[in-house]
Amino acid sequence: MLLVAALSALFLAACDGADAARGGTAGPARAEPRSKPLVVCTTPIVADLVRSVAGDKVEVVALIAPGVDPHLWTPTRTDILAILDADAVFLNGLMLEGRIGDSIQRAESLERPVLRVAQSIGREELLSDPKRATYFDPHIWMDPVLWGRSAGPVAETLAKVAPRHRDEFLANAARFEATAQELARECAMALAVIPYERRILVSAHDAFGYYGKRFDLQVRGLQGLSTESEASIADIEHLVAEIAQKRIPTAFVETTVSDRTIRALVEGCGSIGHELAIGEPLYSDSLGRAGSPEGTWIGMIRHNTRVIAQSLSEPRR
Ligand SMILES: [Zn+2]
Repeated sequence: MLLVAALSALFLAACDGADAARGGTAGPARAEPRSKPLVVCTTPIVADLVRSVAGDKVEVVALIAPGVDPHLWTPTRTDILAILDADAVFLNGLMLEGRIGDSIQRAESLERPVLRVAQSIGREELLSDPKRATYFDPHIWMDPVLWGRSAGPVAETLAKVAPRHRDEFLANAARFEATAQELARECAMALAVIPYERRILVSAHDAFGYYGKRFDLQVRGLQGLSTESEASIADIEHLVAEIAQKRIPTAFVETTVSDRTIRALVEGCGSIGHELAIGEPLYSDSLGRAGSPEGTWIGMIRHNTRVIAQSLSEPRR
């Protein structure tokens, strides 16, 4: 009788927390039980969103370090094991993590909740890829309104691994969405100083489509939607001609992308008598260092907005 009671106590202890939340699905065996559910995210931007919704009820880990280009990131064996061992997985989706391989499908086959955050947005909101017919622009987080809206699906997914905190997740998501909408209003105000003829944002790759659509800026990204493609000489010559003709003062480098193509633009503009400045680096596909203001999604959007507003509103050279 004592033995039965002891075994029951052990069983109940093992079912507490994450393991209970998982609902007894099959998967790799764990070395030790967790005090709270563990979810794995791909990019620091996705992890920032998930942390905002999860509060302290869930442990949130990002696989991709700040400053690393997600288009070119390939998961290591350790990353794949972390994906397979997590209670839930959050990725951006829409092929942002183009080299992630089949580990996500394997997690899904183990019945782990998986949320492709950008794919939780209505298809009618997505921008298509002009160069690849069946692809969409994955850089949803650049539009604070859309990114704020993705907090709701994050809350529902977290509720699958920690059901008793569902109300808290939903309340956090609502708060995040309201903050994101406020951020959108703040950005629109800051960017209003840029004159109409200079509302053109030139960057190394096409990460700013949603930002441009939300804030009425035309965007020109040299390498297309993924940094896996390279700009051609014809692309550069074409853009040089437009920049010079419209007297655009500044082009922007990004923290996760080589500045090679932007330097080629500066050279090209110089050769035809237009001085093109290089602006302070923008955060496109990653956050800044953890602990810095740009180490959060709100901080990165604020930084980009300040830099773009200042650089493009200056008088032309
Ligand atoms: Zn990108």
